[in-house]
Amino acid sequence: MNVLSLLTPIQDVPRIGLVYQKRLKKFGIKTVQDILFHFPSRYDDFSDIISISEARAKLAKTVCIQGKIVKIEDTRTFKKWTNLTEAVVQDENDKIKVIWFNQIYITKTLKEGDFVCLAGKVSLGKEGLYLNNPAYEKINDWGFSGLTHTGRIVPVYPETRGVTSRWFRFIIKPLLVRFVNVIPESLPPEIIEKYKFLPIAEALWQLHFPDSFESADAAKARFSFEELFLIQLSVLKEKAKLMQFKAPACKMDASLMKEFTESLPFKLTNSQKKCSFQILKDLEKSVPMSRLLEGDVGSGKTVVATMASLSVAKNGFQVAFMAPTEILAKQHFKEVSKLLLKFNARVGLLTGKDSRISNEEKVSEISRQNLLEELKNGQINILIGTHALIQKGVEFKNLALVIVDEQHRFGVSQRAQLFEGLKLVPHLLSMTATPIPRTLALTVYGDLDLSLITEIPKDRKKTKTLIVEPKDRKTAYEFIEKEVKYGKGVFVICPKISAQGETSLPRDGESEKKPTQSFGSFAPQNYDFGFFSKNDVKAVKEEYEKLSKDIFPDLRITMLYGKMKASEKERIMLDFKKGEIDILVSTSVVEVGVDVQRATVMMIEGAERFGLAQLHQFRGRVGRSDMQSYCFLFTTSPDQLNRKRLKALVDCDDGFKLAEKDLEIRGPGQLYGSQQWGIPDMAMQGLSNIFLVEKTRTAAKEILEKDPQLKNYPLLKERLKQFETRIHFE
Ligand code: ADP
Ligand code: MG
Repeated sequence: MNVLSLLTPIQDVPRIGLVYQKRLKKFGIKTVQDILFHFPSRYDDFSDIISISEARAKLAKTVCIQGKIVKIEDTRTFKKWTNLTEAVVQDENDKIKVIWFNQIYITKTLKEGDFVCLAGKVSLGKEGLYLNNPAYEKINDWGFSGLTHTGRIVPVYPETRGVTSRWFRFIIKPLLVRFVNVIPESLPPEIIEKYKFLPIAEALWQLHFPDSFESADAAKARFSFEELFLIQLSVLKEKAKLMQFKAPACKMDASLMKEFTESLPFKLTNSQKKCSFQILKDLEKSVPMSRLLEGDVGSGKTVVATMASLSVAKNGFQVAFMAPTEILAKQHFKEVSKLLLKFNARVGLLTGKDSRISNEEKVSEISRQNLLEELKNGQINILIGTHALIQKGVEFKNLALVIVDEQHRFGVSQRAQLFEGLKLVPHLLSMTATPIPRTLALTVYGDLDLSLITEIPKDRKKTKTLIVEPKDRKTAYEFIEKEVKYGKGVFVICPKISAQGETSLPRDGESEKKPTQSFGSFAPQNYDFGFFSKNDVKAVKEEYEKLSKDIFPDLRITMLYGKMKASEKERIMLDFKKGEIDILVSTSVVEVGVDVQRATVMMIEGAERFGLAQLHQFRGRVGRSDMQSYCFLFTTSPDQLNRKRLKALVDCDDGFKLAEKDLEIRGPGQLYGSQQWGIPDMAMQGLSNIFLVEKTRTAAKEILEKDPQLKNYPLLKERLKQFETRIHFE
């Protein structure tokens, strides 16, 4: 017989058959240890065992009783598909009927004369009160010890089809008994002591089979801490590694910067000045900068980035400025070239198929080959483009600054690719309009320093936001028609059409992916991010048909969706910009950051289906000039929570506040996709707690300062290594 250990694969564990092995793999459970770290998502409180006569007074309540089975049998019903098992259970003073539906195997386990503990709902049938489908287990005597499924606080696990919580408890408990004392303690003892955490064995036990809700919370606190702590260690270690590299120091020329700001057609906001200064100061250092410039749409990040680029160029170094799409790359190229007109900088554009150059008033075509040649010679100061910039064959002479727009986090591997063969590591400036709540900034983005643009230029008018009820639809359409008559542009965004409310059958493959909603488990509310472009397109087409045929037959309406060719999308955006399209109907993937100043109306269908942060982003597509703009939130949902969210958008135009609100209402998992990062649930939950996040950061810093290589913490180091293979922040 095999000797079980923590690392024993599940197929070698007795009681776990082939079918279950497959099912467990869906949870990523491969070893004994993985099972023990499969944590409950909630608990049922069956700890209060009452007498049967007390239970009789609690109709429609869930109660826990114990007694002797005096009768049990499978009975037939006239209804097909339903098998009944009926029993009578008796304690000292009273008895009650018990009914189980479709669980005929129960009579194999429970026999007359057995003592049982039962937890279920007291219900009323034709023949009186009965206990409805209760959880059950045998007990050995009238007093009891070690109940698992009843008579205690009972763990409820995230379930998948065919793996019930009961089964998890049945498997986990004996494994816990056997292994809990050999599980290595991965938190350093000084941390356990400092924060008064439960040691690993006790924490695991209390998490699965808690003595009280307090001790379950204490256990959870420990694991949340531990997982966030690992993220912090990982991120801070990465940062420390980077700090060992040398970067090109670019001295700031104060009078040049003054000259630049005075050349602008507007005055910089205080935030822009502050952020520029932080960046320019970082660039002077000979360690690589890693900075995230965060500012709402329209807050003017491009100018700040341009100033940094100018400083680098004047030091004789080069800048790579990357945008997520071709349209944006071109927009940046135009803007940066314009801003630097008088400063004699040579700015290049390189996208998948386009290459251009601009220098003092002139933009000209240049062959890709010549552009690459110039880049290699150092004649080009600033190269703007898409991901084409980091492809093979694109060689800089002396790259000193990489600017990344709207990528949140520039992948480590991508960065490494840029460093390849470089003596000096370039500085990194990442820009985003997505407000990142503080807790995330301190964890997932914890290796980046933060610069915040908190102001919007003053001359901007606030976009008026309105919730449009079905009865007001017509009025809204009339308003839109009037705006178009004045030459304004209108965006229409539609959410994906989902199975929600439709009686469509799941498509191939889909039913496999979705965890089944098993009986009694929580079903988390799913929000729609419009990721599935097939349905996106369908929604857009339907909306387009409706608008162009029925509502606005005289207006020029065009569709835009993610799957279109980049060149086609670009042509449409340009036509829209030029005023050759009145209404642009698109999916949620409408290009971020594209500046269409003549657009004044953002109309969003099924607004309740989007997240607040995303709605705010959509709204940012308009209001980019001094004209009054409008955001119409069309909704038919009477749901109060949805109303509350949309109302928040009407009342508030601060992206940060809205992001915090979103985090509060929906939880970080929904918002940022823990799936995408592979962050464990406990850490995700911990992310809504700023105090916890700060604690873990401090703890990680302290440990790394003492022992950067974690030489004295071999177990922690090992855990971290395992952990890092699972998480991937991009
Ligand atoms: P974002 O932060 O969304 O990338 P942009 O950099 O595209 O914003 O700026 C949006 C618009 O605002 C641009 O047309 C830019 O020239 C203008 N702008 C930037 N800063 C200011 C300012 N301080 N005052 C007025 N307009 C500004
Ligand atoms: Mg921008």
